[in-house]
Amino acid sequence: MKRKIILQSFLISLFTLTALFIASIIAFYSSQANNIKDTLIELTATLEPVVKKDVSLLDDLSLENTRITIVDMQGNVVFDSSTDNYQIFDNHLDREEIVNAMNGSPAVVKRYSQSLGCNMYYYAKLVNCDNGETYIVRLAQKEKDIWTYTGLGIFLIAITIIISLVVSYLFASKLSAKVTNQLTSLRDGLRNINSGDYDNVTFQTNNALNLSILNEMNELVKNLQDNYNNAQNEKTKLYNIIDNMTQGVIVVNSIGEIVLINNVASLLFGNAQPKNLLSGIISDKKLYELITKALNSEQKEAFAYTFADKELKITAFDILINNSNDFLGIILISDVTKEKELSKQKSIFFANASHELKTPLTSVQGLSESLLARTDDNSPSYKYLKRIYTESIRLHNIVMDMLYISKLEGKSIDKNHENISIAKLCEDSYLSYGKEIEQKGITINIQGDAHMVGDVHNIYECITNLIGNAIHYNKQNGSVDIKLFDEDDKARIIISDTGIGIAPQHLPHICERFYRVDKSRSKSTGGTGLGLAIVKHIVALYNGTLDIKSTLDAGTTITVVFPKEPID
Ligand code: ADP
Repeated sequence: MKRKIILQSFLISLFTLTALFIASIIAFYSSQANNIKDTLIELTATLEPVVKKDVSLLDDLSLENTRITIVDMQGNVVFDSSTDNYQIFDNHLDREEIVNAMNGSPAVVKRYSQSLGCNMYYYAKLVNCDNGETYIVRLAQKEKDIWTYTGLGIFLIAITIIISLVVSYLFASKLSAKVTNQLTSLRDGLRNINSGDYDNVTFQTNNALNLSILNEMNELVKNLQDNYNNAQNEKTKLYNIIDNMTQGVIVVNSIGEIVLINNVASLLFGNAQPKNLLSGIISDKKLYELITKALNSEQKEAFAYTFADKELKITAFDILINNSNDFLGIILISDVTKEKELSKQKSIFFANASHELKTPLTSVQGLSESLLARTDDNSPSYKYLKRIYTESIRLHNIVMDMLYISKLEGKSIDKNHENISIAKLCEDSYLSYGKEIEQKGITINIQGDAHMVGDVHNIYECITNLIGNAIHYNKQNGSVDIKLFDEDDKARIIISDTGIGIAPQHLPHICERFYRVDKSRSKSTGGTGLGLAIVKHIVALYNGTLDIKSTLDAGTTITVVFPKEPID
């Protein structure tokens, strides 16, 4: 750095001095030409009276550095101060300065002299002598050699360069020491910023320009420090929130290394810490496989898993970091052991209650039926008995549906593997609603067929509930379209109706047990409020999917997709 500054100072001095030297030589050179011209004119004017009086007077005259030539009107040289042997000279009438003089416009002329071998300045003038003769007086001076000046100049410049070198060295040493000190403090400060230590980073200088730059830098450091502190605070807040969540959170990078893990997840997986590999902390191979599969899949669906005596609900998905190609994997783990236990208890109660209700209800139904058969249609008690009978049928249906759901939940249901034609099941199903179809004037269309292996009873239950709803909640003269497709390893069933539709706020709940949009309408159709809950359970039992789309007052479309072969 120091050497560079010295070298640069020296080169600048050298360049400046050389430029100055060349400029002065040019200036001197041109002033020399003007001097010679003036001198020649002045000397000619001084000599003019002498020549006028008597030309021979010039024989005794000698002028330093100036050659005097007298030429007669024929161009012959009659006198030349440089030689006595002037007779040898050529005729001078063609010389430019002589021509100028003869024309009455004397002017200084510069020309190369063959006889002297250098550049010469000439000036000539006509002189009418007192004796009646006319002569041309010509004065000439040599152009001085440029080296006459440059020789001295080079010597002077050499001295100046040596002096400027010494001065440059002293100046540059001082300057570089100053600059180096400031740059070192700047480097140390930047190093501190880089390592995240913003405290005590202040840059100082005495120089006004540097001061303004460093003030900007100090301001920049302050802003950086504020931003850094804010980011740190936000990060701490976020980590506190994540750490105090009841849900386990794990964030992994693209190589499967843990970037963030909260307390719940850390405790679950043997006090796992950031930088551990996900594969290292999850000892259960199946669980690890399910998580990586979920991370690589497009869907954000949760899956259930029993791990360390806990019922877990796990969601794993990828997120893209900003605009880079790097992904972060997010794993959210909820401990649903208590909820599961509660729901199990509910199911047990549900099953027991239904079971207990079944026998007395069957008796009520049977007894009311026999009493009704023995009662006269017109007697006052007939109406009440009829009501008891229909309500007992409805209650019986509810209890049967409750028991069926209990079986589906307990997975204690028979699952025979039979080849099923769904078109056939649809036909059987809608025939059972023949009376209602006729009353409402509903048109049923079945297109295509779909085949699968499963338990006919279960699949029929599912389909008949959907077709039943499409009929019950349809309008007068409406229609029900059933489209069936065989798709690779899937059977697709689409049931659309032109009925009353379902408002968006009810859609998320209609598969819940006993949820009805319009209770009285459901009851009037003999609905139990359990139809869609049964559909949902059967679809789940066969690892299928259920999708419900509806527009109020326009109709509902329900799509069920079953795997063709059962997945266990
Ligand atoms: P329900 O026995 O009352 O029909 P479901 O579980 O089958 O019970 O259906 C729940 C509720 O969803 C129904 O009460 C009804 O309000 C609504 N629903 C189901 N299917 C349809 C449909 N196709 N069109 C309109 N509403 C429907």
